[in-house]
Amino acid sequence: MPTTRRGFLGATLALAMNGWRPAAAAGTRVTLERLQPGVYVARAGNAEVARANAAEVVPTLVHLSGAGVLVVDPGPQAAWGGALLGAIRALTPQPVRWVVNTHAHPENVLANAAFARLRPRPVFLASAATAALMRQRCAACLARMATLLGSGTMRGAAIVLPEPALQPDGWLHTGATAWQVQVYANAHSASDTVLYAPRLQLLCAGGLAYRERVPEMHEASLQGWRRALRRLQELPARTVVGTAAGTPAQTLAPTLAYLDALAHGIGAALAAGSDASRANDAVAAVPFRHWRHFQSRHPLNVQRAWRELEDLWMQGEPLA
Ligand SMILES: [Zn+2]
Repeated sequence: MPTTRRGFLGATLALAMNGWRPAAAAGTRVTLERLQPGVYVARAGNAEVARANAAEVVPTLVHLSGAGVLVVDPGPQAAWGGALLGAIRALTPQPVRWVVNTHAHPENVLANAAFARLRPRPVFLASAATAALMRQRCAACLARMATLLGSGTMRGAAIVLPEPALQPDGWLHTGATAWQVQVYANAHSASDTVLYAPRLQLLCAGGLAYRERVPEMHEASLQGWRRALRRLQELPARTVVGTAAGTPAQTLAPTLAYLDALAHGIGAALAAGSDASRANDAVAAVPFRHWRHFQSRHPLNVQRAWRELEDLWMQGEPLA
């Protein structure tokens, strides 16, 4: 159970923050939108990473616990992280004590560095699998992001690795709020961590929940992601923060409906002896055509899902 023994050092931190200015924050603004008392999300683009959006596409969750601030998925780069810290400071003198990385995608984790400069230093937390993946590949991800976004956007970037302290079915305690930890292997990514606070009925779903945008599946398992979403739908959440915020009906349900459409369409086509060249026609995608990135992302998802399901089908596995 990850906890921290640090005392409450709000006044000390406020002084430390006054002396520190993020180098690359000029021009980057972060707006924190209030979801419920003490719970905020950063306004971010509901879009795929691109040079035009500087990868600012993750709605970072900020929870003012009363005993310190929890930040989940601090974002893509130092300027965003610095601006996010400024927005947090405008809300509260509470120190940032916990930073959680839900999964090892660069737009979620590369702003860790902005928080590592704080004194006292927050504790950085992830599942063992996410921490190991970040150790393996954050350097390559950082180089790729600098190429994609430009070195100016990634100025001040540094890799800060989390502790592998979030245990599946364990709890993270932030003041009076307890967060149930769930870890899903092979869903949206190789390892996706979810936090659920029963007291707040708030679900932090990381990359598992989309809203009006075609899910990114470049590292996904279709079947694993569907299993994860079915589990998440059993939680009595009122609010979900994933790649966008909304109710379960606006996020979990449509994401699962899209993945189910892939699975059912491709499963039926495989059973009928169809081949991959007709994969696109096999999926009933009309309900999702208005989602963002449909034209570019959906065909890639169909190809990926076809490969996964064809392998399972060849092995005689059920595709339901
Ligand atoms: Zn992701």
